[in-house]
Amino acid sequence: MFNALGQLDQLVTFFKNLFNSLQEGILFVGEPLDIALAVIDILITTFIFYYILRIVRDSRAWQLLKGILFIIFLTIIARVFGLSLLSYLLMNTISVFSLAFVIIFQPELRRTLETVGRSGLNLFNPRSGEYQGERAATTVSQMIESIVQACGEMAESYTGALIVIERTTPLGELQDQENAVEIDSPVSTSLIKQIFVDSTPLHDGAILIRYGRIAAARIHIPLSDNYHLRKDYGTRHRAAIGASEMGDAIAIVLSEEKGTISIAIEGRLYVLENSDALRTQLHRFLLQDEEETEGHFRLFRRKKKNKTMFGPRIPKTRRVLLLFVSLISAFALWFYVQATVNPIEAKSFSVPLSFENTEVPSEKGFEVTYPTKNIQISLTGRKNLLDSMTNRDLEAYLDLAQIEEEGIQTIKINISKNTPLYTRTNYITPDEITIAVRKIEK
Ligand code: ATP
Ligand code: MG
Repeated sequence: MFNALGQLDQLVTFFKNLFNSLQEGILFVGEPLDIALAVIDILITTFIFYYILRIVRDSRAWQLLKGILFIIFLTIIARVFGLSLLSYLLMNTISVFSLAFVIIFQPELRRTLETVGRSGLNLFNPRSGEYQGERAATTVSQMIESIVQACGEMAESYTGALIVIERTTPLGELQDQENAVEIDSPVSTSLIKQIFVDSTPLHDGAILIRYGRIAAARIHIPLSDNYHLRKDYGTRHRAAIGASEMGDAIAIVLSEEKGTISIAIEGRLYVLENSDALRTQLHRFLLQDEEETEGHFRLFRRKKKNKTMFGPRIPKTRRVLLLFVSLISAFALWFYVQATVNPIEAKSFSVPLSFENTEVPSEKGFEVTYPTKNIQISLTGRKNLLDSMTNRDLEAYLDLAQIEEEGIQTIKINISKNTPLYTRTNYITPDEITIAVRKIEK
């Protein structure tokens, strides 16, 4: 990945190899066993891709992943049309982005692996642990009203609070934090106030609102390293800014010391006059979203609790789409691997000639003189298979049972291969042997 230029040249080699391989016809697919192995290979890979996609889909990594895929796509287009400067630039961007992906999403990658470890036993029951009940949905403006009222009252009583509202950037990773407490309840004034009562177990940290519900409490937000924050703001306000730097999320923060309400948007903190100003801002950012980007805004898309061990449950059509994408990718990758890593090759072996049914001629009253000789056998097949084969897996033999008369005669060499996978014999040299047969006088 880091040497993108080389990678793309490999891609060209790949298509050449693929073309050559396909010309070999049956050899590319092989025998039933080869086909069965390929199918299993592709299916398992599909499943792994699907699994990764489902986990990544719910985190911020998803958007970056989409970005990277888009750039790869552009690069291929640029390459195909011979736009060399553009493809050079794009390919270097891919390298940087890939590196960035690993560094930025190190925690997500770690958690993904942990999820795989935890749910390993449950792999084939992806919907276990899913909550089935349907609950009453509220509307965005009702939700805003609940939040505004709770914030107004908490500000008056100098209660500290931090509320993070997810918009289009998925923040499932926050909810999956080790210390987060899952709540999954409709947004209500009393619940918000209850959560932030000092000295209760849930008041420490932030609450996360997703899909119009309070998804979790006690969430720790990565602090912003925005240097320009005023000195009299502490970690809660810094956390609010940090939250607003995660994609397009917005955060409401209530100061315990000052009794103020602030809202953090796109990495900036705005101190608000009162709860009416909060209402205006929330209407602006949440309701407008709903109208303008209908179909994309996910605040109220889902009503059920949608957690499975794969992460959140996603609609069936989406699942089919993900599965389809996984299958196509696995298939493409399989072709790529077949044509580059495991191409079709020829290899020759030198095998000592052996003889079968040596007792038969003497029973018939013949004496045979046969030579010792090495036979060259050339096979065509998959690289991995040929690499693993030695001349012990091959046998070249003469069947002496077919001798019926005396004199000098030539007999064809038979070969047997000790492998269940498909190989084609190119040539055997020599392919026949001359032997002398003499009648024994009684
Ligand atoms: P306040 O004006 O309310 O005092 P502040 O900005 O001065 O806010 P701190 O006094 O440093 O913030 O922290 C108060 C509370 O903020 C902590 O007890 C904790 O509940 C919450 N908090 C601090 N950091 C985070 C964080 N990274 N994520 C979520 N909540 C946090
Ligand atoms: Mg403080």
